[in-house]
Amino acid sequence: MTDAPVVDELTPPVRTLMGPGPSDVHPRVLRAMGTPLVGHLDPAFLDVMNEVQELLRYVFRTDNQWTLPISGTGSAAMETAFANLVEPGDTVLVPSNGYFGHRMASMAERAGGAVVSVDAPWGEPLDPADVRDAFETHQPEVFGFVHAETSTGVRQPAVSELTAIAHAHDAFVIADTVTSLGGVELRVDAWDIDIAYSAAQKCLSCPPGASPITLSDRAMDRILTRETPVRSWYLDLSLLEGYWGTERSYHHTAPITNVYALREALRLVAEEGIERRWERHREVARTLVSGLADLGLDRYAAEEYWLPSLNTVRVPDDVDESVLIDHLLSEYGIEIAAGLGDLAGEVFRIGCMGRSARLANVQYLLTALEESLE
Ligand code: PLP
Repeated sequence: MTDAPVVDELTPPVRTLMGPGPSDVHPRVLRAMGTPLVGHLDPAFLDVMNEVQELLRYVFRTDNQWTLPISGTGSAAMETAFANLVEPGDTVLVPSNGYFGHRMASMAERAGGAVVSVDAPWGEPLDPADVRDAFETHQPEVFGFVHAETSTGVRQPAVSELTAIAHAHDAFVIADTVTSLGGVELRVDAWDIDIAYSAAQKCLSCPPGASPITLSDRAMDRILTRETPVRSWYLDLSLLEGYWGTERSYHHTAPITNVYALREALRLVAEEGIERRWERHREVARTLVSGLADLGLDRYAAEEYWLPSLNTVRVPDDVDESVLIDHLLSEYGIEIAAGLGDLAGEVFRIGCMGRSARLANVQYLLTALEESLE
């Protein structure tokens, strides 16, 4: 047996988080995480759960009763959506224009779905005409799309058009809003989205661990009347209903500290006002993009579907992308990220999310880039 390891007290470096998430966390959120635990069935915690659900409805712009945080990161919320809505044998239509559309395909397949895709090049959104054609060809029961594709910096416009096509075919729509919730205009009810899921560590600026999801009654009816049980016990919404529904009975131990953090992060959104917050993201990211252009760094995504929370920038021919990323981290403590999937080596990804979407951060990053590119 080895001796007990001697490990120093944790002293992480101070970073400016301008990558694809996590983003900088507000001190109030960190403070909330330092408050004492109560039990997950304590009446005081039941109040916290109600408040979190109410705040999540506000941020998602929905009246959906079924609005809750899933224990786990964004992928857990994503898997909750697909594992619950997809029954074995269902046809599931997913996009092929980014990294997270491919993850949707994997999850839908594991849930027993037959996956078909609607194609668009990486770096472009889905064209509603192609979605209509795909519906006519494949008649899917479920359609997933990515509202804010973190791998390409593309925002899917015309969401209502896509949901109208799906609903005309009696299908259900799952929206990935991981990089849009709390930072980019998103209206779950007005846009008629059946299920939207997200993560805490992007535009909500909260540590990862409790991930928002919202479901329409129509989606929940389908889930609660499934012919086969959901393959995941942990993410089965018909069981989670006991805890997050009216009964408040034990299913699994909620990650109390993450729920505290989410409550405080959502409180900050409510104080700022959701529409003002969308506007701040646009303004700050606009300053970033024009400062980058002044340095000769061109935005990758076109203006019509630019995603302010995640800016993809072409890597100039004479720049070694990984050297620049490492230099920014080691010399300035700034995190940005490389391209992902088909865009590896072609773009940098610069996040402008939540508390990181501040002019001070943008100016610091632009100065660091200017010095580093000299
Ligand atoms: N969907 C999108 C669009 C994402 O950007 C991410 C993470 O970056 C995920 C899903 C998965 O979230 P997580 O990494 O929190 O599991």
